[in-house]
Amino acid sequence: MECQKLFPLLDKLEQTQDLTDEEFSLLIEDHSAELGKEISRRARILREKYYGKDVYIRGLIEFTNYCRNNCYYCGIRCGNARAQRYRLTREEILACCDTGYELGFRTFVLQGGEDAYFTDDRLTELIRAIKKSHPDCALTLSVGEREQDSYEKLFEAGADRYLLRHETADKAHYESLHPPELSHEHRLKCLHALKTIGYQVGCGMMTGSPGQTTACLIKDLRLLQELQPEMVGIGPFIPHHDTPLAGCQPGTAGLTLRLLSIIRLLLPQVLLPATTALGTIDPGGREKGLMAGANVLMPNLSPVTVRRQYALYDNKICLGEEGAECLRCLSKRVSSTGYRIVKDRGDHPGFKGKEGP
Ligand code: SAH
Repeated sequence: MECQKLFPLLDKLEQTQDLTDEEFSLLIEDHSAELGKEISRRARILREKYYGKDVYIRGLIEFTNYCRNNCYYCGIRCGNARAQRYRLTREEILACCDTGYELGFRTFVLQGGEDAYFTDDRLTELIRAIKKSHPDCALTLSVGEREQDSYEKLFEAGADRYLLRHETADKAHYESLHPPELSHEHRLKCLHALKTIGYQVGCGMMTGSPGQTTACLIKDLRLLQELQPEMVGIGPFIPHHDTPLAGCQPGTAGLTLRLLSIIRLLLPQVLLPATTALGTIDPGGREKGLMAGANVLMPNLSPVTVRRQYALYDNKICLGEEGAECLRCLSKRVSSTGYRIVKDRGDHPGFKGKEGP
């Protein structure tokens, strides 16, 4: 099909935030540069309507790579005996936040494997300490699946947001990427619990993961419509050499960029990161992501000494740079797109604020 025939679908998506499955598949499967250009142009108009030229930064602190799970794609899976495990101390984590604050970060993201050491008591203590030092900052957790009462305690301790990618909304596809002890149902149950508790919630999927079809991606889009997350994190699947999926093809920047734009049209106000994985698969990937509708970057604030060990996939970028250097480099990259990094928590516009702990 000539891709201009698809332009009315973009009108419909913008006006109704909905398309039929057939229409979504036409957009997902069209690889023409012309459609790419038009959809990203429209995505940019929408992001600028709600966010102007602002780009929010989130300081990512990868605080543990111990993990009890054995996801087939992930380099820190428990079955990877070659991964060198580390866990940052409370003091190290607080120092990352202090450095980040000085640099202008107003959101910190604590991300890690599912590490049993971080009980509710240890995590709530850590959350309180961070919020006490930096009451004007938002705190995001990305520590996987826990039970509802645990999520409640962490929220009460001061956590504002939670990132839990759904990975794929197709049950059979989910089961092909995860061991039997992990269930698609539980992942979704967690996302719904997080929403109910009052977190600003981020879900998302890897693009181009092994076995992913257009039908899977349509289910992903339907899940976004249903859950209405405040954030959507998507990035290409990139194989890690010590995992069962080592020999699989990586996802592409092209598909990731098209999906970023589709998601911007679907959820116009959503917070949408241009991810490190996108910058890994394509050296200009994060800039292209911003030009395709993304409005968030998540630079690494983890100590340089442990960066290499938080290896979810191969060839991850930004392993050697201290926070300050990293931010300088990113600022230049962002300027090249006509956008600018701002010193702001960058909450979702629909977020009404949260009572302090
Ligand atoms: N344990 C936490 C954090 C996981 S790491 C959790 O379960 O949410 C954050 C994200 O990295 C994952 O959700 C996954 O989507 C992504 N990731 C893991 N392995 C990857 C790979 N090989 N390629 C690309 N992304 C990957």
